[in-house]
Amino acid sequence: MSSPNRDPDHGGDSAGTRSPEIRKDPVTNRWVVFSPARAKRPTDFKSKSPQNPNPKSSSCPFCIGREDDCAPEIFRVPDVPDWKIRVIENLYPALNRDLEIQTGQLKTGRVLPGFGFHDVVVEAPVHSIQLSDMDPEDIGGVLLAYTKRIEQIKQHDSVKYIQVFKNHGASAGASMSHSHSQILALPVVPPTVSSRLDGTKEYFDQTGWCCLCEAKPKELVINESCHFVSFVPFAAAFPFEIWIVPKYHSSHFHDLDTNKAVDLGRLLKLMLQKMAKQLNKPPFNYMIHTSPLEVAESQLLYTHWFLQIVPQLSGVGGFEIGTGCYINPVFPEDVAKVLREVSLP
Ligand SMILES: [Zn+2]
Ligand SMILES: [Zn+2]
Repeated sequence: MSSPNRDPDHGGDSAGTRSPEIRKDPVTNRWVVFSPARAKRPTDFKSKSPQNPNPKSSSCPFCIGREDDCAPEIFRVPDVPDWKIRVIENLYPALNRDLEIQTGQLKTGRVLPGFGFHDVVVEAPVHSIQLSDMDPEDIGGVLLAYTKRIEQIKQHDSVKYIQVFKNHGASAGASMSHSHSQILALPVVPPTVSSRLDGTKEYFDQTGWCCLCEAKPKELVINESCHFVSFVPFAAAFPFEIWIVPKYHSSHFHDLDTNKAVDLGRLLKLMLQKMAKQLNKPPFNYMIHTSPLEVAESQLLYTHWFLQIVPQLSGVGGFEIGTGCYINPVFPEDVAKVLREVSLP
């Protein structure tokens, strides 16, 4: 994953003198074009639609005291009226948990009943609090609420993949401004997941290692905690994309324990704060990329979960839709350097 022809000390100032490069990340198994001709300096990236402080809304059903205005509750943490986190059904679910899929339909069908789960995790009782405002223990609590709900959903045989994600800001797809994330459980394994399995298998077959266990090149690392490392991926598809990866080998996010959840909470908070400061509070998405619920023993060796953060700075255009390749105007080494050096109060 290292790039010997690159001087990491050049930073963004060298952007104009570099040749374009096409990189393929073994994890995403996808090509990305790094195009210095289109480059801005990494420090020029700022959100054009910053997220303003979130004023109290009198009509927000996610606020404490408004529980009756929501879709049914699945559980709350702790289980008292004065809750910190609630997991509820989505009032407008993309998929229906009451439909049934027959085994034969999965093997042969090109159309399936729209079975699945679509839940919402309300991350805080108070409207004005965003995830990055919370302390690491409380962010860890949100991560553990994800794992608890995944453990429940995976009891259903028809569920093949569970995607946890967060949309923050209207242009990142959030329809509610109260801090929340979503859990969507699918009866199929989505294409990015299959592609990731192919990519990490190929790497494993060639080297004998899990590519996410490998030490990250120093010039791509942003920060580290006890159990996790945050870095800019070698072939980042999006400007200022960040990955947080466990330093220990683990195929499934839902195996996370309390101690590691708090450690991850601390590093996630740091990344969200650095991103907000450097990029002027951009809308963003994060996604937890875990392995399919059913994986063969042999696949456990090269499947390794991680959390991806993508600030919404640029839209996706015709080239990306047409090819599935991405053009990124800023080199990962330069972004990592900028994010390493962001100082927080
Ligand atoms: Zn609210
Ligand atoms: Zn690994």
